[in-house]
Amino acid sequence: MHHSLVFFIFAHPDDAEICCGGLIVKLVKDGSEVHYLCCTDGSRGTFNPDISPKHLAVIRDSELKSAAKDLGVKTVEILPHCDCDEIQEYFLRKEIIARIRRLQPEIVVTHDAWKPYLVHPDHIVTGLAACRAAVFSPFPHIYPDTFSPGVNSVREVFLFDTDLPNMFIDISEVIERKIHLLSHFPSQMEQAGAQQKMIRPDNRSNYDIGREMYEDIIRRTSTQAGVITGIRHAEAYRRFLVRNGHFDAREQERIPGK
Ligand SMILES: [Zn+2]
Repeated sequence: MHHSLVFFIFAHPDDAEICCGGLIVKLVKDGSEVHYLCCTDGSRGTFNPDISPKHLAVIRDSELKSAAKDLGVKTVEILPHCDCDEIQEYFLRKEIIARIRRLQPEIVVTHDAWKPYLVHPDHIVTGLAACRAAVFSPFPHIYPDTFSPGVNSVREVFLFDTDLPNMFIDISEVIERKIHLLSHFPSQMEQAGAQQKMIRPDNRSNYDIGREMYEDIIRRTSTQAGVITGIRHAEAYRRFLVRNGHFDAREQERIPGK
C-alpha cells in the first residue's frame, strides 16, 4: 500500500509500533513517507519510584528513535509534555495543526478517542486533538499564524485501537517483524513485567515477562482482527475521509483486507 505521506500522531513512545507496527512496515516497504509526532515524553510510564521522570524521558526518547530508525520513519518529533499531565486539547490541537500544515500529509493515523471505556487521558486528548487538527488545518482563519496559501487538506484519517473498525490491514507477512519491534522498548517491557509480578509471582526477569505479555497481546489482537475478514493476522482501523470540517459519514462501509 502506497501513500505519499502518512503522519502518525500518538500519545506515548511505543504506541505507534505496538498498535500500528504492521501498517508502518508495509507503508515504508511500498515507498510511503512516514513521519511521527509523539505528544508526550512518557516520563511517568514506570512503576519504579527510583527512576526519575527526567531520566525516563531520555530513555524513552532513545527507544522511540531506535524503533523509528529500524522502521525507516523519516522524522520523529516528541512534544515536551509530561504524560498524564492533563494536556489541554485546544493547545495540543494548535501544535498539531502547525505540524500538519508544514508536512501536508495525505493520511493522519491516531488513537480512537471515542473508544468506549478508554480511560487513558493522553490517548483521549491526542486522538481528539489530532482528528480536529486533521479536519481544520486547511481553514486559513484558524490559527492564521501557521497558515500558508496552498496548504493541502488531509485526505483520510485512520483510527487505531478501535472497537468499530471498517478497514483491516493484512499483516500476516510482517507480524514477526512487528513483534521484533518490541525489543526497542525495554523500559516498557520491564514495567509491564513488574506489574505482572505484582499480580502473580514469577522468577523470570521483568523484561522477559513483559515481552511475553506484549507478544501475546499482538498475536491475539491480530488473530481476532483477522477472523472478521478471513485474514490470518490483521490490524484493525476505523477509516474516515475528511470533508469540509467533518469526517465523511458516507465512508462507513467495511473495507476488507486493504
Ligand atoms: Zn500509550
